Amino acid sequence: MKTFPQSLKEARPGSRELLESLTQRVHELNPKLNAFLRWNNGSHLVPEGGVRELSLAGLPISIKDNICIDGLETTCASKILKGHIPPYDATVISKLKNAGAVIFGQCNMDEFAFGSSCETSAYGPVRNPWDLERVPGGSSGGSAAAVASGMTLAALGSDTGGSIRQPAAFCGIVGLKPTYGRVSRYGLIAFGSSFDQIGPMTRTVEDAAILMNVLAGHDPKDSTSANVPVPDYTKSLRRDVKGLRIGLPKEFYGDGIDPEVRASVDQAAKIFEKLGAQIKTVSLPHTPHSVAVYYIVAVAEASSNLGRFDGVEYGLRVPAQDLKEMYFETRDQGFGQEAKRRILLGTFVLSAGYYDAYYLKGQKVRTLIREDFTNAYKEVDLILSPTAPTPPFKIGEKMNDPLAMYLSDIFTIPANLAGVPAISIPCGFTKSGLPIGLQLMGRAFEEETLFRAAYTFEQETEYYKKKPNI
Ligand code: GLN
Repeated sequence: MKTFPQSLKEARPGSRELLESLTQRVHELNPKLNAFLRWNNGSHLVPEGGVRELSLAGLPISIKDNICIDGLETTCASKILKGHIPPYDATVISKLKNAGAVIFGQCNMDEFAFGSSCETSAYGPVRNPWDLERVPGGSSGGSAAAVASGMTLAALGSDTGGSIRQPAAFCGIVGLKPTYGRVSRYGLIAFGSSFDQIGPMTRTVEDAAILMNVLAGHDPKDSTSANVPVPDYTKSLRRDVKGLRIGLPKEFYGDGIDPEVRASVDQAAKIFEKLGAQIKTVSLPHTPHSVAVYYIVAVAEASSNLGRFDGVEYGLRVPAQDLKEMYFETRDQGFGQEAKRRILLGTFVLSAGYYDAYYLKGQKVRTLIREDFTNAYKEVDLILSPTAPTPPFKIGEKMNDPLAMYLSDIFTIPANLAGVPAISIPCGFTKSGLPIGLQLMGRAFEEETLFRAAYTFEQETEYYKKKPNI
């Protein structure tokens, strides 16, 4: 294995040699991992001269395949968008380019970000670099596997119910879901518009802060982006949690957590305490309904967002006798099974006669869940939990049991329902060497507190130094 720079920070500014060595790694490893759907074959030019002053000058960042890049095919890992070439850059892509970054390849994912394992991609599953028989998590599993295996220095993911954090945990890297509204969604192909956020997936907490300095901020092109000033996130990287109050939600620590995950998260709470944080139990009483509420409200939004893919304007068109048949055939052949399941479920919960019983009720419970967080944050500054209830599972293990798959997001979904920021960082390994992640959730627009606590823990434990043997 060739050595690779551990972080954006260390590699700054990027060089042609760096891009060449990463390109070689992609050639070597991607056939095993299937983390990239496409990449630009090392033909990028590293900016010269003054541009080297830019914060990401020449640094390769890889992009989940649901974020539009001007002139490059973008498919959401779906057959229905095969051949779709967006005529514009998502705001996050313009921001990365303006900061000097090299857009280094597009990452595989669950189709339309529906899934927790990257097995619903129309272009084949992604494998976990720590164990090729296991899933990398999803839906941003290609981004996570690419970062963890050293094929790229950092990547962007999107998170609707856990899709940045759960794969980050499964691949032993850092993943941040920012506060809803913190990062522009313009050019992100929508799944659940009231949940979706783009965020960084990196090897270190510092790299996540460096990327957030570029990504965050108000965007007039996204009416849900918030006009809140952006701090310098790297300033919050202090090795100090003294006086921070960290809550353990009692509803999260019931049955169903793998014992090794439980042990590492308990250990993490002890480490925070030793470093001067105050640990206390808190209650988020409505969160046991989170998965149910999410699978009503998010699928309702998904069914509505996916209505535009009908063979007329984007990607695939299956020729047919008349217009209606063309719609049917295109959608039938273009969407995979999980996408169809969600379109049907979402259309059902929005239909006349069922709207009040499901969608409206779901929205009301969502409000209660959001209030739970507001109340808990009167007592604590952060909330600590496992990111996922289990370590990475085997490929095929949950594919025929959607409910078991949905439950892998049980700890990540509440932050999306409440709109609060949350980060996953490595907190240990199982006896068989699989990564385990812990999640910290914060108050809206207080990513700085997440960074501060995550950085302190990372510097103390140094789990990020361990790399998969691939
Ligand atoms: N795994 C969850 C789902 O299937 C979350 C996906 C996501 O965050 N995009 O919906």
